[in-house]
Amino acid sequence: MEPCNQVCLPCKMPCEVKCTHSKCKNTCGAPCVPCQEKCRRSCVHGSCTRRCGERCSRAACNEPCPLKLPCGHPCRGLCGEPCPPICKHCRPDEFPKDFLGYDFDEDAKFIRLQDCTHILEVEDADNLMQSDKETIRIRCCPFCRKPIINTYRYKDFVNEMYKTEINPIKERVYGTKAQIIEKRDKLRDTFTGFEETHLQVLKST
Ligand SMILES: [Zn+2]
Ligand SMILES: [Zn+2]
Ligand SMILES: [Zn+2]
Ligand SMILES: [Zn+2]
Ligand SMILES: [Zn+2]
Ligand SMILES: [Zn+2]
Ligand SMILES: [Zn+2]
Repeated sequence: MEPCNQVCLPCKMPCEVKCTHSKCKNTCGAPCVPCQEKCRRSCVHGSCTRRCGERCSRAACNEPCPLKLPCGHPCRGLCGEPCPPICKHCRPDEFPKDFLGYDFDEDAKFIRLQDCTHILEVEDADNLMQSDKETIRIRCCPFCRKPIINTYRYKDFVNEMYKTEINPIKERVYGTKAQIIEKRDKLRDTFTGFEETHLQVLKST
C-alpha cells in the first residue's frame, strides 16, 4: 500500500512519519510512537543529548557546511545537514534562483528537503516552517506541495505539531495508546484462542 502523504483525517494508509532510525509502522490514523534512539543531531559545533523523538537539547546548526562536494567545490548547505547536490561553478543552470528568478546572495545557504529532495534557500525554508506560528498546519514544499514532515532540521517543529494537534485528533478517533494496547492484546488473545481450538480440531481428526 502506498503511504498516506496527505494531511488528512486519520485513514488506513501506512503512516508517513519516519526518522533516520526507523519508520512508523502504524497506519496514518493511529498515533505515532516517538523514536527512542539517540538523536542524530550532531556536528562539530555540538550534539543533541536527547532521544530522537524528544525536543532537541540544541537548535539545528546555522553555520555553513564545511564539506566539499564531489567536484571539489565548497558545499552550499548547512553544517550537519545532508549536502544539497548543487554547484554554481559546475552546473550553473541548475543552481537555485529566488522566486523572482534572481540569483541568491553569494553567501546564501540551501537545504534539501528530505521529504521530496527539492532545494530551498535556508531563510525561505525557515520562514516557511516557522512564520505564522499560531496557525498550526503542516507546511508543504512550495515546488511540489509534498508535506514537510521528515526533514531533520525541522523535526522539533513537526513533532510539536504532531503532539499538540495531530495525535490528539488521531487519539480521539482511535482511542488513547493504552486503549490501543488493550485492544491489541485482546485481539491477540482471541487469535491465540482461535489457533488453539483449530489445532485441537486438526489433531482430533
Ligand atoms: Zn492518512
Ligand atoms: Zn529516530
Ligand atoms: Zn555545526
Ligand atoms: Zn535532538
Ligand atoms: Zn554540506
Ligand atoms: Zn563544482
Ligand atoms: Zn518538493
